[in-house]
Formats: sequence, C-alpha cells, structure tokens
Amino acid sequence: MTRNAFVMLLALGLLAVMFSGSLRGQSVPDTVDGHVAAAKALAANEQTALITLCNPPAAPGPARANLPARGAQPPAPPDRSRWAAEPVKVFDNLYYVGEKEYSAWAVTTSAGIIIIDAIYDYSVADQVAGGLKKLGLDPANIKYVVISHAHRDHAGGAWYLQERYGAHVLMSADDWDLLGRTGGAWPKAKRDMTVIDGQQLTLGDTTLRFYSTPGHTPGTISTLVPVKDRGTPHVAALWGGTGFNFTITPEKPAAYWYDAYIKSAEHFRDAAAKAGADIFLSNHPSWDGSVAKMAALAKRGPSDPHPYVIGAPSLQRYLTIAAECARAGRLR
Ligand SMILES: [Zn+2]
Repeated sequence: MTRNAFVMLLALGLLAVMFSGSLRGQSVPDTVDGHVAAAKALAANEQTALITLCNPPAAPGPARANLPARGAQPPAPPDRSRWAAEPVKVFDNLYYVGEKEYSAWAVTTSAGIIIIDAIYDYSVADQVAGGLKKLGLDPANIKYVVISHAHRDHAGGAWYLQERYGAHVLMSADDWDLLGRTGGAWPKAKRDMTVIDGQQLTLGDTTLRFYSTPGHTPGTISTLVPVKDRGTPHVAALWGGTGFNFTITPEKPAAYWYDAYIKSAEHFRDAAAKAGADIFLSNHPSWDGSVAKMAALAKRGPSDPHPYVIGAPSLQRYLTIAAECARAGRLR
C-alpha cells in the first residue's frame, strides 16, 4: 500500500467513526440544547414532523384522546364529518383505512388480511370494515388485528373486529394489562394473543416482525412490514407510539419513560437497519406525513418515485431524531 492510500484509508476510517458517533449521539453534548441541535441537524434535509418532539412540552400531542375519565360518562362520539376519511391503496399490499387523525393499516396477504391498529370503537365499522369494502376487499378476511398500544384511538375498535369477524387481537402483555386497568365506558377487546420482542406473525406469503418499544405506553410495539410497490419489495417501519404523553407516577417518573423511549427508538432503529427498512409509517397521519404523501401518490406518474419510500438512511435519521428529542426531554 502506498503512503497516500494509507492516509486515505485512515481518513475514511476516521470519517466513518465520526459519522457513526454523531448518528448514535455519542459525540453530542449531553445538554438540552446539544440534543435539540443534533436532532435539528439530522432533520435539516428531511420532511419529518418528528422534529416537533424537540419542542418544549406545552400543547398536548395528538394522542391525548384516550386518557380515561374513570367512572365518568363517555362523551358522545364526535360528528362523523370530523373523522371520516377516504381509504387509500398505498402499496400493492398495504392500505390506509384510518380516520383523518388516526391511522389503521390493512396488510393484504395470500391468506387474509392483517389490520394494524383499529382506531376508535365508534369509527371502526365505517372506516376499517367500510373502507376495505370500498377498496374491493372483504372484511370477513381479517384474520389478525395488531394493536400498537392500548390507547383508545388505536385499541378502541379491536373488540368489533374480534366479535364481528372472529379476528385474533395481538398486543403486548403490558398493554393488555393497561387495557384491563383502563376506565371509560368504551368496549374493550377480550384478552387474546400476546406479542413479545422479536416475534413474527406469518399469514400466507407475508411475515410481520414485532419489536417491544416501551415508552409511549408500558408495552408499545412497533412493526416491520414487508410491502411491494409495483412489484418491487420494500420494508416499512411502523413506529408504534410517538408522543411523550407519559403516565407519570412517583414510581415511574418522567425520566423512567424517557429512558425507555430512547432505548426503544434505538432498538427499533437497529432492527430496521438490519431489515433494510426504507419507509416510515406511524399510527397518526400527522407523524408520517401521510396527508402530503397521499396527495402525491394520487398524482403519481408511471416513472415517479413512491412518496412513502424515503430510503434506509432517512429512516435511520428519523428514529435518531426521535431518540435525540427524547434525550432533550429527559434533561428538561
Ligand atoms: Zn397513544
């Protein structure tokens, strides 16, 4: 090896160390400003709402609606005009059947349908079952319903799919427990299948993989979903719980939840990297940019890129932004 080649290799090695260091937060000053700056630098060229996690907490996040009013009469469901949305085919085998502000995803396989998140008890029939019908799919083929976490805006509709179609409902043990402790007069799914970290669910030709990502709730799960775009395979990473609206108790203060969240974001980021995931999905359209992406999808030409396919490096940055904003939150 010539001396120049050696110097070049050394420089490349150093660059790689610096890059991985900054990506993993090791060279970031451990201060609120340091972590916010690191997140902002990663978000500079990204269209991601995740950077708003770095804002100081003031306004409640989008996932507040489930906070139980124990013993209180539930308020009447909001008017349909406030939540009804059209279903959308997003990939060859992935469909959006959610509301305006809450996502439900349908994965079609050679042996039936898997629903990821079941939105509200009052909207599930119209949006999930009705949405599938509008798309030419049969809700009677729903075999599994994966619930990312036990908040009402994601778990509320599970009972309906369980009772009406005999679908199996999957949730982590911790969030089945959380559901059992949750008040409010909305119907709850009967305890069914339990998901653990690294577990797979195969239905026909499709295998989903689940990761335990506590933080948003004690047992939030995130999912890797294989999808196809005009026949080309991709992997979508569905982050199961995004907001920092933790349930804080003397035993489990805010720092406990932030630490769990940081670990989870890094755990899922590493799993996504290994799987080559290149799509970010959420269970709120506001977090994954679905409104703009669906509009772009509707106008997509034959040679246009798919608006949801952001690429593996971007997805890695997204989850690092979430972790860095959680680090800032922990220090506030
Ligand atoms: Zn939630």
